[in-house]
Amino acid sequence: MDLKINLERLKSDLEALAQVGRDPRGGISRPSFSQADFAARAWLKERICEAGLCYRQDGAGNVFGRLGGEGAAVLVGSHLDTVLNGGAFDGATGVLAGLECLRRIKEAGTPLSKPLELVSFTDEEGNLVGDFLGSRAFAGLLNKEEMEKGVTSFGRPLKDILAGTEFSLESILNAHRERPKFEAYLELHIEQGAVLETEDIPIGIVERIAGKSYRQCTFTGKADHSGTTPLELRHDAFLATADFVLRGTRLVATEHYGSMITVGKVTVLPGSFSVVPGRVDFTLDVRSASAETLEILDKDLLALALDIAKTRGLSFHSRVVDRTTPAALSDRVIGVLEEECRKLGYPSMRMTSGAGHDAQIVSGLAEVGMIFIPCVDGTSHAPGEMINWGDLEKGANLLLNALIRLAG
Ligand SMILES: [Zn+2]
Repeated sequence: MDLKINLERLKSDLEALAQVGRDPRGGISRPSFSQADFAARAWLKERICEAGLCYRQDGAGNVFGRLGGEGAAVLVGSHLDTVLNGGAFDGATGVLAGLECLRRIKEAGTPLSKPLELVSFTDEEGNLVGDFLGSRAFAGLLNKEEMEKGVTSFGRPLKDILAGTEFSLESILNAHRERPKFEAYLELHIEQGAVLETEDIPIGIVERIAGKSYRQCTFTGKADHSGTTPLELRHDAFLATADFVLRGTRLVATEHYGSMITVGKVTVLPGSFSVVPGRVDFTLDVRSASAETLEILDKDLLALALDIAKTRGLSFHSRVVDRTTPAALSDRVIGVLEEECRKLGYPSMRMTSGAGHDAQIVSGLAEVGMIFIPCVDGTSHAPGEMINWGDLEKGANLLLNALIRLAG
């Protein structure tokens, strides 16, 4: 008979962890290396040891729990950190489902030929320095300069944050030297969108993870009196921005449907009701599952912005803040996930992940697979983040059976 996870135990783990880092605004604030994060780490360590797994932590604070001895392992996990006032399921679901799978396999005495190892990556959310600090450290993709200059999203130098901890720039940069041998990595995660819920399908099998180009942009025009400057004589930076957002969105929607463009933060200066906006700073977030499309979009959108600036008599400049390349996940692991899903009788669909995940970093090192489960109303990174327990049970059972297949 197929092995099944213990849903009640998994559910109570998720509920217990959701008490760590409660934000008065209703959600959870557990950024990496905060007090709440250290409390969550201590809690996870207890669970790992209680389950009889071998606990270990690397120099970047990535936490491991191993079942089995020598040899290349199959890894399973996600992250425990959250965005500020985020939800209880982004990341935590994957770590705790992985823990539950290893516990069940150990309890059942399922014979395996390869070790299994739980991993909880540090700072997936990028509060410390760029996204995926832990998995990038694990993969050996960090550079010293980035780390030394690193300023957290709360405005403090990374060095200062580390000063009060057992970690240092050196230990983080060297974390990849402690990396266990492994040949595959599985991650279960909430979808963070509404596709599965809309399609009424409990399981998404991720084929690709979109890459991202994130720029900080500025249109500079001229701040003038709103009553005395005729419309045709203005160099309005906000109008240029509005024009760019509308035409940029139309360009993506018509020529690269499926890719995304978002201007999520706009600062209008000087910011007075009676002054024509002289300058606008804004973020430009472009995502695509195709590296080629991402490159074309980056080029075309910059050309569009420069054209608008020229026509309206302004200047435009931008700088790259962050860039990740799209990742294709393993065909073999996708095949295993689909087969196990069929055996379990769960409907599934293949998907592209529009959000970034540690899985895309790890995909450069081994065969990687990702399972999505629906989240209610597609809500994520917010206090209202919720899942249906029945979907979690299906996702975790799929994870369990896929782990047994890959390590059997
Ligand atoms: Zn996540």
